[in-house]
Amino acid sequence: MKKISILGSTGSIGLQTVEIVREHLDKFKIIGIAAMSNIEKLEEQINEFKPEIVAVFNEEKAKILASKINEKTKIVSGMQGLIEVATHDRVDIVLNSVVGSVGMIPTYHAILSKKNIALANKETLVVAGKIIMQEAIKNNVSIIPVDSEHSAIFQCLQGESVKDIEKIILTASGGPFRKMSKENLKSAKYYDALKHPNWDMGRKISIDSATLMNKGLEVIEAKWLFDISCEDIDVVVHPQSIIHSMVEFSDSSVIAQMGLPSMKLPIQYALTYPTREKSSIPKLKLSEIRTLTFEEPDLDRFPCLQLAYDAIKIGGTMPCVLNGANEVLVSKYLKEEISFYDIPKYVEKAMNKHSSFDYTSLDELLEVDKWVRNWIMNELK
Ligand code: MG
Repeated sequence: MKKISILGSTGSIGLQTVEIVREHLDKFKIIGIAAMSNIEKLEEQINEFKPEIVAVFNEEKAKILASKINEKTKIVSGMQGLIEVATHDRVDIVLNSVVGSVGMIPTYHAILSKKNIALANKETLVVAGKIIMQEAIKNNVSIIPVDSEHSAIFQCLQGESVKDIEKIILTASGGPFRKMSKENLKSAKYYDALKHPNWDMGRKISIDSATLMNKGLEVIEAKWLFDISCEDIDVVVHPQSIIHSMVEFSDSSVIAQMGLPSMKLPIQYALTYPTREKSSIPKLKLSEIRTLTFEEPDLDRFPCLQLAYDAIKIGGTMPCVLNGANEVLVSKYLKEEISFYDIPKYVEKAMNKHSSFDYTSLDELLEVDKWVRNWIMNELK
């Protein structure tokens, strides 16, 4: 029986993780759950799974939840609460699907407590990849990707040696605005971006998918997870989202991982790794799909992807600036306070303003993250 904590249990990935647990009650036991503020959903999950500990990031909401729960469940709050859920004694694996760089702190503490990590929170690696991977090695902890592309690469690499990798080929659906002209993109609205053709995702990642920033963050994530130079990570647009990513080896062999687009597959694999279990995910029928197509990403219409390559090439604290700026800008775009192209415009401005340095602690990164968020807010005034 694997004992799990789920950080972000009420979000899109969290709910799908809960479904997988429900389908495999003989395999998994939920010990802890954590969410930002959705206490109605948390209450349902407490009643169904009887976790030992529950964290609500929002302290007021935590109090309300505590007053409603008469189980033996311990209710905690704030970042300290998230850390408690992530480091609980009885937990074997922490699934982290918190949105944004705020997720890096509980991930870090979970690693120090020698918990394996099923990582859906890509911002953790974008911002703090160096420290996170160093600590994971030091503490003999596995970081198993939940991001579908990275899960694909991870699966392609089973039984292989990282030194034989020639290239990683990340596939991108191209997002909801793949075919939109630059002129129309200038006035593209957030609610159109939320209608993703293939993937059912949260709000933030849906916007990142529309700008291709998501793919840029994934390039950085892949660099850290697989210890590979970003020059050896290619992106190819594959609108059907059937091939979830590929690895090219030194002998020119290319291995791809395929399946119908469902986040339940990479979530389940991360939880069952190194074995596989039966799942409710529909089977891929290639004769029904018939056509798989591929095209180059358009960096002119989607400059965020190039900005992410630039940030990781500069290295140090620059990806932290790229990410912090993007998080603020996406939340502004979701409130219709800025336009689609303001996102790359201000990310680039922030990057130009920042002198990158080689960080040695999470505190330094938190400082940079705070600086860039304030800087963007001031610029937009
Ligand atoms: Mg992905």
